[in-house]
Parts: sequence; C-alpha cells; structure tokens
Amino acid sequence: MERKTFLKWLALLPATGILMKLRTFGDSVSELPSTGLMPVLFLGHGSPMNAIETNEFSQNWRKIGESIPRPKAILCVSAHWETRGTWVTAMQQPRTIHDFGGFPQALYDVQYPAPGSPEMALETQKTITSTQVGMDQQWGLDHGCWSVVKHLYPNADVPVFQLSLDRFQTPQYHYELGRELAALRRKGVLIVGSGNMVHNLRMVAWDKLHLPEYGYDWAIEANESMKKLIATGDHEALTAFRNRGKAFDLAIPTPDHYLPLLYVLAGKQGDEPVRIFNDRVIGGSLNMTSVQIG
Ligand code: ZN
Repeated sequence: MERKTFLKWLALLPATGILMKLRTFGDSVSELPSTGLMPVLFLGHGSPMNAIETNEFSQNWRKIGESIPRPKAILCVSAHWETRGTWVTAMQQPRTIHDFGGFPQALYDVQYPAPGSPEMALETQKTITSTQVGMDQQWGLDHGCWSVVKHLYPNADVPVFQLSLDRFQTPQYHYELGRELAALRRKGVLIVGSGNMVHNLRMVAWDKLHLPEYGYDWAIEANESMKKLIATGDHEALTAFRNRGKAFDLAIPTPDHYLPLLYVLAGKQGDEPVRIFNDRVIGGSLNMTSVQIG
C-alpha cells in the first residue's frame, strides 16, 4: 500500500494514541500488506433516474462514499450484466453503457469516466479457484453500476470493474463465489452488489411511483422477511429463496436483481455489523432496501 493511502486510513482511526504509535514505525508502515477490511454494500438501485436525482436514496449513497475508507478499486456485481460463464471487465477505460430506453436525454448524456482496473481484474481471476473467470474487454459499466457508484464517488476517481452474473448457475454457486471474492476486501476492494431484492417490473403501480412509499402486501411481506433473515444472518434461507413461498416468488420473478445480494451477504466475516438503509417499498412491487456490512 502506498504510504499516502495508509495515512488516509490512519486518519480514520478514532484514537490519536494509536495513530501516534503507528507513525513511529516510520518506513515499515508502507510495507503493511493489508488494507484493513473494506465494507461490502448491496445497493437497491431502482429507477435509472436515481443516477441524476437528488433524493433520499442517492443522498444516502453519497454519505456512504464520504464515510467509508477510500477503496483502491470498486468491484460491481450488477443485475444488468448476465452472461454464460463468469467474467470480469479488464479494460483500462470502461465505457458508460446506457442500457435502458425511454428516459430523458439528460440520462443519456451522463458519462462516468472512472478508470478500470486490469490489475484487480487479474487479482480476482487468481482469487477465484472454484471456476474459471474470463477477462472481458467488451462490456464497460452498465447503469446498475454507474447509477449508484456515481453518487458514492462523484469525481469518478476510483477505478471500477464489474463481475458478471452467470445466468446458468444456481443461487448456491453465486453465494459460494461471493465467499471467495471476500478475500478482495483485504486488498482495498469495495464490493458493491447492485440490484433490488424485491423487483417485479410487470406489477409496478406506475401511477403510485411518485409516492415516497407504496407497496403491495406481498412486497411488504417479502421486504420484512428478507430484512429479518439478513439481520439474523440466515444466508441459507436467503439462498434458497425459491422455497420461501408466494411473497418471495412474486418479489423475485427472475433472479437477476436479487442475486447481487447473495454476493454481498457471502462476504460477511464473523460477527461484523450489518446495517440496513433505504428501507422503502415503492411503486407497489419494488424495494430500495440496501445493506452495508462492515
Ligand atoms: Zn435494474
């Protein structure tokens, strides 16, 4: 780790006494191998418009960026990149992908020019041994990633790379992959899962989307159950989401927006603190509920 980065970390330590003691180590400080354990985040991204709106959700994302240690790189597991096989983006300069339709021009004008991280992509490939991770040069940053990361780091000065969701794999596969990825937390990587736990676009109450909170009974039930299972650390139940009844079936008609959550939960180490925020059911059939671990 660069000395400058390490000193930034030190600045976050609460006790000045510790700070002074560590500084007396002088040059040996820069040789410390660990960056400390970066948090992991699941962010409910909701509408792409959140990318350009200042609202309670985007304000909370911004606060996180300001409150956690600055990462060396961000690894996004986005609901919007499904592939055959598991891939990481490995280009120097990922493009901003506008993978949606029917939105105002202002949203298409957004560019998020964060650099990529070929080094961390390679590190990810080495870290995961249960499967072969491919190095991708085509994708970039889809809106699942940039619409939230843009608020975490508005200056686009932290490298960002993505991991794809293999759509042919089981939930268990995704959870196990998340466990392996957790090793990157000690290498300064902020893992961000971006999706929505409750996400049924066919049932959205479009005329109620402007309300701060409006949910169908099943959506509220699923949101409450998911929060309980997250709080109690019952990852087995959350991974077996297909066996949990009607509310879960309606909340997760397809797994793409839910699976990023499993990557994040799998990263939890021991009895780390778990914080739930942006806890809102909106438009009847969506939730914005988000999770910070560590
Ligand atoms: Zn989405």
